[in-house]
Order: sequence, then C-alpha cells, then structure tokens
Amino acid sequence: MSLTTVHTVADLRATVANWRAEGLRVALVPTMGALHDGHISLTHLAREHADRVIVSIFVNPTQFAPNEDFGAYPRTLPADQKLLGDAGVELCFAPSVEEMYPDGFATKVSVDGAMTNVLCGAARPGHFDGVAQVVTKLLLQALPDCAIFGQKDYQQLMVIRRFSTDLNIPVEIIGAKILREDDGLAMSSRNRYLTPDERAIAPTLNKVLGDITAKAATGAELGPLLAKGREDILSAGFDPIDYLEVRDADTLELISDTVTKPARIFVAARLGKARLIDNHAIEPA
Ligand code: AMP
Repeated sequence: MSLTTVHTVADLRATVANWRAEGLRVALVPTMGALHDGHISLTHLAREHADRVIVSIFVNPTQFAPNEDFGAYPRTLPADQKLLGDAGVELCFAPSVEEMYPDGFATKVSVDGAMTNVLCGAARPGHFDGVAQVVTKLLLQALPDCAIFGQKDYQQLMVIRRFSTDLNIPVEIIGAKILREDDGLAMSSRNRYLTPDERAIAPTLNKVLGDITAKAATGAELGPLLAKGREDILSAGFDPIDYLEVRDADTLELISDTVTKPARIFVAARLGKARLIDNHAIEPA
C-alpha cells in the first residue's frame, strides 16, 4: 500500500472504519511534522503493534505561547510525505488549523498538579494544556488501538498517560526510546535552527546527562553533580538553562539528594534560536 494523505476528520474516520471492518489493528503516531529518523523510529515501533499506521502532522497553535516559535516552526509536508511513504506508513493525517479548531471551539483539556507545574510546564505555562487538548482530539478522531509517543518528550508522555487514563480513552499509550545522532544529540525538528557552530556544541547536553547519570546511579550526591553539569552546559555556550533536574521516573517528584529508585534527569536549555530538551533514565545500581 502506498501513502494516502487526508486533511479532514471525516476522511480519517472513513479510512479507519474500512480497516476496522477488515479486522485490522491501527496505530497512531502524532507529530508536528518536519520529520526526522526519530519520528520514523516511532512508525517502526507502531508497525510492531498494528497492521496499519497513521502519522498525524499538525503544528498545534494552542501549545505555543505567543512569544514562541509557532510561526517559524518548520513545515515540510512534501518531504514528510516522502519519508512516510518510504517507511511504509499507510496514512498521513494533515488537518488545517480550521479543521481542528473550527469557529466556536471552546473546550479545554487540562491536567492538574505536580506533573504539569514542573519542568516544561513551569518554563512554558499553558503548554501541556495545549498538548492535552490536541492529543485528546487526535486520539478520539482516529480511535486507534494504540498511539506511540517518544521518551524524548518524557513529561509529555507522562501527561498523556495521565489524561488518557483519567478520561478512559480506550487507546494503549506506548513510549518509544530516544533516537540520537551519531554524536549523541537527541534528534529534534528544532535542531534545524542550529548554526554549524551551535550544532557542534549541542551534543554537550547528552554528554552532561550521561556523566551525571553514571555517577548518580552509584549513589553520588546530586547537588555537586548538578552544579558541575550547569557549569559545563553554560560554558559550552547554552544560555539560559531552563532546568537541569533529577525527578522520580513515575511521579516526576523532585529528587535532590541521592537516587534510590528509578529516576530521570531532565534538561532544557537554549542554544541560539533553539530551545533543546533531553533526558536520560537513571537506574540505581
Ligand atoms: P514532535 O513532532 O516534535 O511533536 O514529535 C512527535 C513525536 O516524536 C513525539 O512523541 C516525540 O516525543 C517523538 N520524537 C521526537 N524526537 C524524537 C527522537 N529523537 N527519538 C524518539 N522520538 C522522538
């Protein structure tokens, strides 16, 4: 089957209904486009769980603050379609803003509490309300058997698990590991914003996370490790650091002394025009 692209919810639903009538399992991979190999790795994981794979491409205005890069965000639909076709994806759902948020649209989806007030939730107020709103819509529009999200956006994955459980959305949420460039930089659509000099500096984030992870896993005190990590990130040329924190892998509660349970170290920092994020798992020895 070659790739088909649809732009309306009605066409998406008609396609999924035909597949369902044939007894096929369906997976959804939500994206904002400007696709790279990290996204494609999600489609491969989707294929392990389903007979038909849908990739949605929608740059969602409600998850960007007015001062953020919604206007500048790369939009590369023809190149994305080529990558999806080559990856064997059956359906690309690329709705317009008007299709997703028609006149009169008034509904918000908001996840309360510790999970959304921290990390990117603190640095980007309202961001996760926008994510929850659009992902709720995409899940209900396609009603797939499963949906795949990258651990690159680990907090987003946790927030999506939370609201889909709370709202009884009957879709299995599956997390996928982070795909990296050869030098360790986590793949991201926003890496396109980096100049060659910045691109050479960018792998510092992964290196600092890796160094701290190795020491924290053997019980080292986090305070000095994080202080040194901040110094290394700033002296490489990042400015500012939004956060460099270790948190419980399940609850996202802050861990400030030593790691004694599965944890995760998170970083967000700006390098030129790009705000880069990354994270690593810390498994205590
Ligand atoms: P985005 O287009 O940035 O909204 O990302 C769409 C999906 O791809 C999200 O679930 C991301 O977590 C995931 N993703 C982005 N970059 C990577 C990566 N380097 N490795 C794995 N998944 C990724």
